[in-house]
Amino acid sequence: MAFVTRFAPSPTGPLHLGHAYSAILAHDMAREAGGRFLLRMEDTDLERCRAEYDRLIQQDLVWLGLGWDGPIQRQSGHIATYNTRLEALAGKGLLYPCSCTRSDIRAALAAPQEGVAFNVYPGTCRHRGIETRTASDALRLNLDAALASLAAAELSFAETGPGHFGLHQVDPEQAHRQIGDVVLSRKGEDIVAYFLASAFDDADQGVTHVIRGEDLFDFTPVQVILQHLFGLPTPVYHHHRLIRDDHGKRLAKRDDARAIAKYRAEGATPADIRRMVGLPTP
Ligand code: GLU
Repeated sequence: MAFVTRFAPSPTGPLHLGHAYSAILAHDMAREAGGRFLLRMEDTDLERCRAEYDRLIQQDLVWLGLGWDGPIQRQSGHIATYNTRLEALAGKGLLYPCSCTRSDIRAALAAPQEGVAFNVYPGTCRHRGIETRTASDALRLNLDAALASLAAAELSFAETGPGHFGLHQVDPEQAHRQIGDVVLSRKGEDIVAYFLASAFDDADQGVTHVIRGEDLFDFTPVQVILQHLFGLPTPVYHHHRLIRDDHGKRLAKRDDARAIAKYRAEGATPADIRRMVGLPTP
């Protein structure tokens, strides 16, 4: 089986040890399988993404010895295509417009953080038909309608990560509790949700194995549902452990103290970084 994986950072801050672990693991698994390792910048959040971080991430990856195959994919260059595909779903009656507040919608759109409960939408605007949509509305998935349209589909994904190894079925009850009517495109802006863009890109880039942090595991069922709605293949998933700080907290972008650039400046070698995150040196 072909093996194509990717590292997909959002350029909203410098790479830290947690990203380095994810990138090294994906790179090494691809190389071991004789496959491809792609780099994708998930830069749809134009307010928070910066070109300087995009450059710094590339420099750090090169320094770590993680060469990627082919050109870098940037989501900001594909927004029109994402929206065209989304419109096709709107035409099938599976989306509805929503005028709920910006802060609710922002919370639902952001890449999830460990320990933060996923914001299940209460369905306030679910009664609205797509024809009532205004320029300032967000678009939400009607999960009930989506699951009904997929009644005959086998909604499952294979997981090879140690924490959840095995085949996982998407359970409709659980999907209602954990996912609900997610926002797929943000209010008044041509920005589609991170997990939708990511599902499109994984399919478009021929990704066969998604290797990413454990914190994204709970997001996988919604991506599987979207893959089926758009007729996209479901890759194999491998969710890996998270690198934590001395207090056991997952590292975040603001943890500049653990930025790879800082270790570099202090004279660390790529082998030191591998040792710090518990990965073998080549
Ligand atoms: N862009 C996401 C992040 O930086 C990763 C998404 C993924 O690997 O599927 O957290």
